[in-house]
Amino acid sequence: MVCRKGFYNPLCWIFLYVLLATSCGQDNATNGQVGQVDSLCADSISPDTSLLVEDEPLHLLRIGAVGDLMVHDYQMKKAYRNDTDTFDFSPVFRQIQTYLDENDLLIGNLETVFAGKEKGRKADVYGYASFPYFNAPDCFAATLADAGFDLLATANNHTMDSYPKGVAATLDLLDSLHILHHGTARDSAEREKLCIVERNGIKVGFCSYTYSLNGVFVPKDKRFMVNEFCKYDSAKVSGMCETIRRLRRAGADFTVAYLHCGTEYQKAPNRYQRRMADSLHRAGCDLILMAHPHILQRMEILPAEDSLPRSLVAYSLGNFLSSQVFHDSIPKDIGALLQVDIVKKRDSTFIKNVYVVPTYNYWRSDHIGVLPVVKAHDNPKEVIKLRPKDKKRINHAYDDALRVLRGTMDSTLWSIEDERYRLAW
Ligand SMILES: [Zn+2]
Repeated sequence: MVCRKGFYNPLCWIFLYVLLATSCGQDNATNGQVGQVDSLCADSISPDTSLLVEDEPLHLLRIGAVGDLMVHDYQMKKAYRNDTDTFDFSPVFRQIQTYLDENDLLIGNLETVFAGKEKGRKADVYGYASFPYFNAPDCFAATLADAGFDLLATANNHTMDSYPKGVAATLDLLDSLHILHHGTARDSAEREKLCIVERNGIKVGFCSYTYSLNGVFVPKDKRFMVNEFCKYDSAKVSGMCETIRRLRRAGADFTVAYLHCGTEYQKAPNRYQRRMADSLHRAGCDLILMAHPHILQRMEILPAEDSLPRSLVAYSLGNFLSSQVFHDSIPKDIGALLQVDIVKKRDSTFIKNVYVVPTYNYWRSDHIGVLPVVKAHDNPKEVIKLRPKDKKRINHAYDDALRVLRGTMDSTLWSIEDERYRLAW
């Protein structure tokens, strides 16, 4: 039985339960409960089987989230195939694919638009463009779909780079590839629609907003087009918090907000990021994701209070894919895949496990791709052949990414398990 995408699919659990009961868990199985599991039977990322209680329905879901998905000039030039006048981005996620496959719901920030060839604001790279006005080839969206991306945040400072037509063309393309999206809209009805995705019996409510639009003017009659809270306008922030409450009222068991904000290349969250996280936490948001600084920033657990549960905030997930490099001590080549395991019992849904797979962007002649740092460090033979330069960056990232993500948290809360970091929740 292969539990590829959907490791947390209930069928996989039934299979695991039967396996445990018949092979190595007999001594611990009493009154329908399974106790401690032999480490030979379940590795460190396997679900905690003490949660399996026969008479209570149980649902499990793993959300995977990455930061900025970018397409710069270098990536397009490397992916361009002169003989066919096409692009090939297919190798870029190959080294990280097994980690992407582990998630039931994979989310990222799409920091480009797909306006079409020669249809963007600029067209200086084979008909497409990158900084400062991004417009990527459509086949990159297909690569995201093939890699397993289910849901993309589309509100960011590059959303309007190719004007309203770029927003509409992007959403049309994502729809055609069955990639869900939130943060931009083609009309006011779409803007009002709530984004609730059901996987494995758990309803996840999702929203995305941006603090900036790259100085691009949104036409007055198209203000519905982007979810923005420019200048941290208090009415807009309240509206964002109200969206979290609406998602909950509409039946979401778990809520995720993805904000595009922060200060580029700053190693710590700014006061606005902290204020946004606090506001969303108070509105009942369970998982708060942020991106835009292009480097990793710390994570925090916002404490439970009265009726509010704890929230997890990742202040910046960094670049997941880009051609930005390590320069001036700024690690723009390092990002992360955050994995959050969620459990739904009869009347509560909560986070059970938190893992982080730190990542590194390596360069090859025909692509720029994503490598899992801990695996590349501990088992280099299992990944693409590394150049001395890559090894040096990976050795550095192995400890440094953990130091950054941990921030001021008690160091005993973090460990390295199964080629990734684990945050004790
Ligand atoms: Zn940005």
